[in-house]
Amino acid sequence: MRITPRKEEVAAIVALLEDPTFESANHLAKAVIKEVGEILQMRDWVALVHTWSDGSRGLNFAPFASEAEAKSFASKMAFGGSGRLVKLNSPGVMLANHDGKKWKGYCQDEQCTHAPFTHSAASSARGACQIPTCPCSKFRPT
Ligand SMILES: [Zn+2]
Ligand SMILES: [Zn+2]
Repeated sequence: MRITPRKEEVAAIVALLEDPTFESANHLAKAVIKEVGEILQMRDWVALVHTWSDGSRGLNFAPFASEAEAKSFASKMAFGGSGRLVKLNSPGVMLANHDGKKWKGYCQDEQCTHAPFTHSAASSARGACQIPTCPCSKFRPT
């Protein structure tokens, strides 16, 4: 997972590291690991889905932070067959939307408020929300 830390992610970890109420380095380390887990759950990932050359289901790998990282891995692991990349959407962002905790980047349509990735992306512009119950016809950014 080759990730570039984002400003708000760094701030969340700094807040933990500067919190004087932790009893020990052990407690602090556990809190940092849990926080990083939550932070990474708010990102989208890429999976490499593999098929052996006889057509049978192969070895699947994830998560990769980008398509480039997945392709680089695939080119080093030349064990045959074919592979394709699959985008994995963040369950954390979806949950944050569902539970009313708005995550940045959600759709501004009042009846929608879903994550950008729930909207179709036929071209570079994002179109209608694909959640079946949602009436949104075009993604409205912040
Ligand atoms: Zn929607
Ligand atoms: Zn929408």
